[in-house]
Amino acid sequence: MRIALIAHDKKKDLMVRLATAYEPILQQHELFATGATGQRIMDATDLRIEKMKSGPLGGDQQIGALISENKIDLVIFLRDPLTAQPHEPDVNALIRLSDVYEIPLATNIGTAEMLLRGLQAGFLDWRKTIVELKERPMNL
Ligand code: PGA
Repeated sequence: MRIALIAHDKKKDLMVRLATAYEPILQQHELFATGATGQRIMDATDLRIEKMKSGPLGGDQQIGALISENKIDLVIFLRDPLTAQPHEPDVNALIRLSDVYEIPLATNIGTAEMLLRGLQAGFLDWRKTIVELKERPMNL
């Protein structure tokens, strides 16, 4: 799985804790992150991460471009809903693209826990599952 990790400034400590707690799982996957988030995680763990630019300088858009090429399978984006972000349009675009391409997206720690536990349990083939769901007879 190719996983994108992004955290706004006030959520970076939480992201580091999350990455540390799930390091054994995360290290089995290909990781991408916006610049400062990726650096913080790499400083605190042995994880290898492909770093994009910092979020406000285009990193969110770079992750969005990867999503649009189906190169990302899961996004953990710990947003700060209580602080205005200079790059709010980029944040919204990333969330929108995750929905356009139906990529599992966590925007808070609760959903992030659920996604990572799903990953831990070996649930990797969500793309196949949603195709089956869309083809499921509706019994109209
Ligand atoms: P950063 O970007 O990891 O470079 O801080 C995250 C963001 O603010 O979108």
